[in-house]
Amino acid sequence: MLLAFLPKGVDMPFLMLKCNRKLPGRGKHCIAKSEEDIIPACDRATQPGDFTERACSFLGCRIVICGQIDNVIHLVHSPIGCAYYSWDYRPDSYGYCFTTDMQEMDVIFGGEKKLFDAILMAAEEFDADAIFVYETCTTGLIGDDILAVARKASEVVGKPVIAFNCAGFRGVSQSAGHKIANRQLFELIGTGEFDSTPYDINLIGDFNAKDAEVIENLLNEIGVRVLCSFTANSTIDRIRNMHKAKLNVVHCSRSSMDLAEMMKREYGIPYIEANFFGIGHCCDALRKIGKALGIDEKKVEEVIENYLNKIKSELEFYRGKLEGKKVFICHGVQRVLYLIEPFRELGMEIVGIATYFGKQDDYEKIVKRVGEGTIIIDNPNATELEEVLLECKPDLFISDDRTEHLVHKLGIPFIKGRGQRRAYAGFNGFVNFASDVYATINSRVWGLVRSVSEG
Ligand code: SF4
Repeated sequence: MLLAFLPKGVDMPFLMLKCNRKLPGRGKHCIAKSEEDIIPACDRATQPGDFTERACSFLGCRIVICGQIDNVIHLVHSPIGCAYYSWDYRPDSYGYCFTTDMQEMDVIFGGEKKLFDAILMAAEEFDADAIFVYETCTTGLIGDDILAVARKASEVVGKPVIAFNCAGFRGVSQSAGHKIANRQLFELIGTGEFDSTPYDINLIGDFNAKDAEVIENLLNEIGVRVLCSFTANSTIDRIRNMHKAKLNVVHCSRSSMDLAEMMKREYGIPYIEANFFGIGHCCDALRKIGKALGIDEKKVEEVIENYLNKIKSELEFYRGKLEGKKVFICHGVQRVLYLIEPFRELGMEIVGIATYFGKQDDYEKIVKRVGEGTIIIDNPNATELEEVLLECKPDLFISDDRTEHLVHKLGIPFIKGRGQRRAYAGFNGFVNFASDVYATINSRVWGLVRSVSEG
């Protein structure tokens, strides 16, 4: 079947390299804690023709990091196709999205004037706090100087116009785009003047609006204020004041550790890693943050105990129903790492893991955390994922929009790992998560899909 995808002039050996199942442990697959227990090949460019769901560095910059900042104009300097990564790709993205809609003549003669005019036009249409301009493959390749255009336009419109050199080819995955976004947004930090307290933190690397809200409220209960959640629920003003925090709490280190490092160097702000997903992680996070800020231990323990008592019976119910069920996790690498323990707390078995852009050290951590026999795969394409799923036969597949349709067609219960209707972070959020997992696994719709697909 793969022959159909073989471009003219490509030799067979190239094709055979894609057949990972014949080369276990030396391709994208590995099996944890077996004789094949080595890290899957990772952090390298996707082979042309390999239709994976990895996305590009433009997506990492535009959608993952910048997309959650409120009241910003996103101006994508591209032919219209790149603007596909807009609102509905990630429903909690904010802002107004424009594209310069580059045509053939713009590509031949350059698109800088078109971009400049588009910035002025967008600024006139919407009273936004800033205008973000994104380079894409086309405009990166023809060499449009978007930084110079942004500087000039900023003087005219009188507000920040920030340009991101984030063309899709600038890295092997979206991960490069995270770094590009962080570097540019770092320039905004330090330009605001909030009054701060000794208990102010930044939450760095949470990109889900509902989760960030829950985490902020939870931290308030132990007397901690979140100056800025970077970037879920953030605004340009909140980012400007991040330098006033006493501590940075890094939620997703793969996307945001470089920002925490830059802030440590420039402003002397220490950072810790913590996350609020699952009971164990949530308790650890509150204790770590409390300790770092010198908050009374008793106060922190009281808050934890209250929550644990409140959710105990519900969690026991779900654990009783979910014990022994098999789950396959397919996500960005940090979310994969955060999901392993919470599924264990529900008594579930992790039979497979896939990530879109994991690196060597990420896979080392994953291999250590999962149970024996778990299949781990880097950047799978649809065919590879289908093969692995048919082999693992999970009771649940957890991922995001990218793999949703394939998994639906296989009739495998599917849930998104980011709570979109309601928060999954925090104690109550974990009950929401357990309840959604339970409802998903027990929905009768999957049986109907299977009966239709099996004819
Ligand atoms: S930036 Fe490049 S890789 Fe990304 S969507 Fe646009 S054309 Fe595709």
